[in-house]
Amino acid sequence: MNDVTKGKTILVLGGGLGGVVVATELRKKLSSKHKVILVERENNYVFSPSLPWLMIGTRRRKDITRSRAKLTKLGVEIISGDIEKINAIQRSVQVNQQTLIGDYLIIALGVEYADETIPGLVEAGNTFYNIDGAEKLNEARLKFNSGRIAVLVTSLPFKCPAAPVEAALLLENDCRKRNIRDAVQVDMYTPEPGPMSLSGPENSKQLRAMVEARNITYHAEHKVTEVDAENKKIIFANGVTADFDLLAYVPPHQAPKVVIDAGLVGESGWIPVDKFNLKTKFDNVYAIGDVTGIKLSVGKPLPKAGVIAHGQAEVVVHNIVHEISGQGSSKKFEGRGACFIETGAGKAGMGNGNFYAEPKPQMKLHKPGYLMHLGKVAFEKYWLFKWF
Ligand SMILES: Cc1cc2nc3c(=O)[nH]c(=O)nc-3n(C[C@H](O)[C@H](O)[C@H](O)COP(=O)(O)OP(=O)(O)OC[C@H]3O[C@@H](n4cnc5c(N)ncnc54)[C@H](O)[C@@H]3O)c2cc1C
Repeated sequence: MNDVTKGKTILVLGGGLGGVVVATELRKKLSSKHKVILVERENNYVFSPSLPWLMIGTRRRKDITRSRAKLTKLGVEIISGDIEKINAIQRSVQVNQQTLIGDYLIIALGVEYADETIPGLVEAGNTFYNIDGAEKLNEARLKFNSGRIAVLVTSLPFKCPAAPVEAALLLENDCRKRNIRDAVQVDMYTPEPGPMSLSGPENSKQLRAMVEARNITYHAEHKVTEVDAENKKIIFANGVTADFDLLAYVPPHQAPKVVIDAGLVGESGWIPVDKFNLKTKFDNVYAIGDVTGIKLSVGKPLPKAGVIAHGQAEVVVHNIVHEISGQGSSKKFEGRGACFIETGAGKAGMGNGNFYAEPKPQMKLHKPGYLMHLGKVAFEKYWLFKWF
């Protein structure tokens, strides 16, 4: 029987998309005798789905960046600092030379980028996977008037499988808008067999056709080994080399070092969790979002995406509140996800479905249109308004 009279401390590690949802909802749903502490190292939250827009100048930094002051107002205790150590058995973390101990630990630390693991990459281009890189690409694109644009996916897995497709389509559209399209070649290089291949061969084929219809050359199964920054050449494991003038890349992803050092990652390199309730093998320790590794029945990992992190966050909140209050019943994360695919010129498509469907994920691709683009814009505004 739970002790419903004693206040609990819930430590939420990481105040990104998943952590903000968990901390906010727990604070709203638990009485004030329980403590919700959020530990985050960055001062501001960045809404990543809008980074491709920032890269082409339709958003500015301030449009997609928010302080977490609203969480503090709600009663979430925010500790700003770098988590240096996690002890999952003791449910303790070290930050700013202090040790915090929780009754519950929710790990929502996302991914760490490892650009430096590919020689020459950092010197040769910029990534649209963080706000500084996206801003630099915006500056670089304005100086670029002819030549070759390469959108490069460096390795698998990477978050938001649609983002590189969006980036290529938006950059291509930008060239048309600036009347330089005839002087530009756009290429996509990726280790994947096709775009969003987990959505099924038919959907992937359709997406690829959409990219190619815009005269973007899609180079599947190209795994970069190094980039010759001086001569502007990408070198791939299959022996192919490719020239570029403007390089926009998706960096290699890995679990954050603090998570690896804590012995939390499994064979996949990510934190193994129960796919329905997000529990790790440690008592009262949960992990959600990009930092987790969930193997689907088809043998591939559940994609890393905000919509997934959000859905998992809601389930973990529900179940912790249920456990603490002793009321209601527990919930399961059911593997559903949806994702807009911005295609430029005021249009967007969408992929949605169920990744946990048996015997394989069931995904539907919706053709690009103006309404879907408005939906994406509305979602951005709604999300930033609701949580910040
Ligand atoms: C370009 C781009 C476009 C995207 N588009 C979409 C989209 O359209 N739809 C969609 O669903 N998803 C999209 N995503 C993916 C989505 O942003 C992520 O999947 C989502 O943010 C994952 O949430 P998370 O909480 O797991 O991790 P994050 O949101 O990355 O949060 C992790 C947090 O942990 C903090 N942290 C890490 N280490 C430490 C430490 N040692 N100490 C303290 N704090 C730490 C980080 O600062 C960060 O705030 C996109 C991502 C990118 C990059």
